[in-house]
Amino acid sequence: MSKHKLSGNEIRQSFNDFFIEKAGHTFVPSSSLVPGGDATLLFTNAGMVQFKDVFLGTDKRPYTRAVNSQKCMRVAGKHNDLEDVGRDDTHHTFFEMLGNWSFGDYYKKEAIVWAWELLTEVWGLNPDHLYSTVFKDEKGEIPDDVEASEHWRALPTFRKDHVFFLGRKDNFWEMAETGPCGPCSEIHIDLRPSDGPVTAETLDTDRFIELWNLVFIQYNRTGPNGLEPLPATHVDTGLGLDRIVQVLQGVNSNYRTDLFWPLIEKTAQLTGHDKSDIDVQFTPYRVIADHARAATFLVADGVVPGNMGRNYITRMIIRRAYRFGGKIGLHEPFLANVAEAVIEQYKGAYPELTQNKETILKTITREEEQFQNTLDKATGHLDALLNDLIAIQQRTLSGELAANLYTTYGMPLEITRDIAQERGLNVDDVGFIRLCSSIVWHPAQAKPWDRWAARM
Ligand code: ATP
Ligand code: MG
Repeated sequence: MSKHKLSGNEIRQSFNDFFIEKAGHTFVPSSSLVPGGDATLLFTNAGMVQFKDVFLGTDKRPYTRAVNSQKCMRVAGKHNDLEDVGRDDTHHTFFEMLGNWSFGDYYKKEAIVWAWELLTEVWGLNPDHLYSTVFKDEKGEIPDDVEASEHWRALPTFRKDHVFFLGRKDNFWEMAETGPCGPCSEIHIDLRPSDGPVTAETLDTDRFIELWNLVFIQYNRTGPNGLEPLPATHVDTGLGLDRIVQVLQGVNSNYRTDLFWPLIEKTAQLTGHDKSDIDVQFTPYRVIADHARAATFLVADGVVPGNMGRNYITRMIIRRAYRFGGKIGLHEPFLANVAEAVIEQYKGAYPELTQNKETILKTITREEEQFQNTLDKATGHLDALLNDLIAIQQRTLSGELAANLYTTYGMPLEITRDIAQERGLNVDDVGFIRLCSSIVWHPAQAKPWDRWAARM
């Protein structure tokens, strides 16, 4: 580990510098959270979204190696991490994905050697705690990625028994029913090495964090059984910034890194809570920090609260954070304070935050004010509905009642679901979506490109 503990901002910079200095990568700034020219994809949800046409061969860039940190949102559609936020310490709605890219240039060997060098030599992670996974087809149709496993095992400091072969779900990445695809190789870190032997199943438990996914695009899928080698092979990698910062700063949660902690401290200044109170109420603190960060970046990219699609998501995120504020005694609009801390933290890497500061703060406060007026009524009404259901031993709130709560009180489905779940009940999401199809994004609306991005 480096002597001086790197800040989150320094870690982002050191990733970019490594690939620029090491191997002539071009820094390509993050694209917007709103994918350009693609109405079918709700939000940019991986680093490769802005490069999809380069992989498809319909776009060419003046460089064949790129590096960046991409703003991502995974909050709707097929790839939705909302349910994990507040419950775990590694999934966010908004997050930054660090990535290095080869467009028909270097391939598996360099991608693996450089990832390893950055993790173990530059950042000083202990090689004994790192594991990798490579692809083995359970159907026996696609060749196993023995090549990648050999590159891992050839690394002098890599433990030869730390590579596992996994199947299609984990280690084969596909664009859609057709299109570019290929095996991938993930890097996981063991947080509790003294817990005994590791198997492929252990990797999927909270003993491990998945840090980095290296995707090797080498085939074109032409149909269910058709897989042709591509004329050029590509590399597409994704490393979650919050996760690597957690590991390098030696803390046990993404929220305890210097990227997130100032947002939590800002909230605690408003509640008067000390560190141990925060521990007890960690779920609301995590949701508020996550959602305030997401809302700040969304508004900066022009996605203001509203009733449909992307705008609905911004509305839902702000309202949901506001309701979680109520759980820790905040009953007045407060999120602009947290948003200011977000801007302070991220303004160096994302100048759009300073440029839009006034709009961000005003927009968030206005949305809280609107919701403040109806939240109590909506909650009272929902409580009565849930009491009725419990009395007749029903466990599911109908889509119609949930839709009514949104149209009457502006209560987003996601909040209705939170409240129902807190009392052990479900909501008929499908029924809600059927009634409010113009409001909520859902996978059925997605075109092939959304399914491609949603897999990542
Ligand atoms: P997981 O299985 O942990 O959900 P994933 O397989 O969905 O991860 P990828 O789609 O391969 O992840 O994304 C590349 C990297 O981006 C991951 O290795 C991880 O470091 C990071 N990442 C993915 N989803 C999130 C998220 N919701 N919040 C923060 N980081 C994330
Ligand atoms: Mg995931």
